Amino acid sequence: MIPGPVEFEPEVLRALGSPTKSHLDPDFVECFGRVLKGLRDVHGTTAGQPFVVAGSGTLAMELGAGNVVSEGDPVVIVDTGYFSERMATILTRLGCRVTRLSAPVGGCISPSELDAALVKESAVMVCMTHVDTSTGVRVPVEAMARVARARGALVLVDGVCATGGEALAMDGWGVDVALTASQKALGVPPGLAVVMAGPRALETFRKRATKGRSLYLSWDEWLPVMEGYEAKKPVYFATPPVNLVAALDVSVGQLLREGLGPRIARHGRMAAAFRAGTQALGLRPVPLEGPLLANTLSALYLPEGVDLSLVARIRDEGVVVAGGLHPAIRTTYFRVGHMGAVQENDVLATLGALERGLARSGQGAAAGRGVAAAQAALAAPR
Ligand SMILES: *Cc1c(COP(=O)(O)O)cnc(C)c1O
Repeated sequence: MIPGPVEFEPEVLRALGSPTKSHLDPDFVECFGRVLKGLRDVHGTTAGQPFVVAGSGTLAMELGAGNVVSEGDPVVIVDTGYFSERMATILTRLGCRVTRLSAPVGGCISPSELDAALVKESAVMVCMTHVDTSTGVRVPVEAMARVARARGALVLVDGVCATGGEALAMDGWGVDVALTASQKALGVPPGLAVVMAGPRALETFRKRATKGRSLYLSWDEWLPVMEGYEAKKPVYFATPPVNLVAALDVSVGQLLREGLGPRIARHGRMAAAFRAGTQALGLRPVPLEGPLLANTLSALYLPEGVDLSLVARIRDEGVVVAGGLHPAIRTTYFRVGHMGAVQENDVLATLGALERGLARSGQGAAAGRGVAAAQAALAAPR
């Protein structure tokens, strides 16, 4: 129950262990093409160009951002924590002039504050982290994207901890670049970077005066590959991670069979039940306001008198949760992922282990109340 890598479906893991096909095998070509098409549905786009490349989410950040900006470009980052900072580092290295619009830990600037900032200083791109994994803060992407687009900026969304577990309508919301990785809400072991580029992003890429310096990260190299596999005419640039792509095919298939709407709703239900439980246990969430609470993970302050040894105690009770990540509050909170294959019984087991962990930390007074509150939330009519 950590915010990635998550627990994976057995059928997804079987695909990883199946015999590796040639990257030019007609079955694999079919499989890769299906993955690319399916990813459009996952992102709520018909016009988007998908890229699936071996690498982690950080590679997806570089692959997504690095092909649309040029040296000297002014870029604005809606800063909600650790991964906003990473994006700032990436863009700074690319030579951009980066402005970070930061909020206190657990907060997020409002769309009107973004608008005011863009009036003062224009930007070619506005970047945001859909769900910041260090705080559990979910950015109101639709409202932010509307503001950014009205001011003529491209919109980039880091969806590594969100896509597949939070609503995303790239076309409808005007998102130009969305990026994610396999090991979080997409439900595939770590190793795949996924980028979806909308038409404005591709146009900006094509009009750039100077090319980026990296070969592996260039859309020039990957575009013919992705277009080729979708057209069932495989093109070689660098060997695709055949088994991971096969596993993603299984996972995207499962996701689309569940249906994107029902899947997001399930994530919402699991998050609400977990929150009801932790609230009943008196735990305070890191996000400062209700609407900022994500579906995909919860970040919770440790109660008075309890330190991060709680994480090890919960592990002893059979459930793996994560410690802190945001440097400003690292030792004062812990994180629980509830995305991907997570079901009701996972939420209840986690709350049970949390209650026993708290009891062993001398905080057993509320034991039972968390599970009861989650049960009540799960019993509510859908
Ligand atoms: C996990 C994560 C990343 C980085 O992904 P890696 O696979 O660890 O490189 C980037 N952004 C967000 C929001 C994340 O949650």
